[in-house]
Amino acid sequence: MSDCIFCKIINGDIPSQRVYEDSLCYAFNDINPQAPVHVLVVPKKHAASVMELDTEEDEALLGHIQQVIGRLAKELGIAESGFRVLTNCGPDACQTVKHLHYHVLGGTKMSEKML
Ligand code: AMP
Ligand code: ZN
Repeated sequence: MSDCIFCKIINGDIPSQRVYEDSLCYAFNDINPQAPVHVLVVPKKHAASVMELDTEEDEALLGHIQQVIGRLAKELGIAESGFRVLTNCGPDACQTVKHLHYHVLGGTKMSEKML
């Protein structure tokens, strides 16, 4: 999508600190980290959120991303201590970038509160 900042990052038109990449997804450091480890994992295919990923192919894509997150957590050294994965979806969740992304947060003890 031409005016999507994460599509531009995936295409290399906007610089990013790449953490991982394969044919289906791209992971990079968040520009405004909320934790010592704050990585964003995004599908290369543009979709505003999970609400737009409803085919069988999308099911495989979403499963793949979850597995990548698990592998990345090990590589980033946060698997043992624990980490948090979240995706903001829509206005009430304060989603600012309308390209599905999973925040992977770790490297610190987090609040018990979700909100
Ligand atoms: P959300 O509020 O869930 O939509 O999260 C969007 C995230 O994208 C925020 O944590 C931003 O800091 C992050 N972000 C925005 N622009 C960039 C960028 N150019 N490179 C890396 N992260 C970005
Ligand atoms: Zn996009």
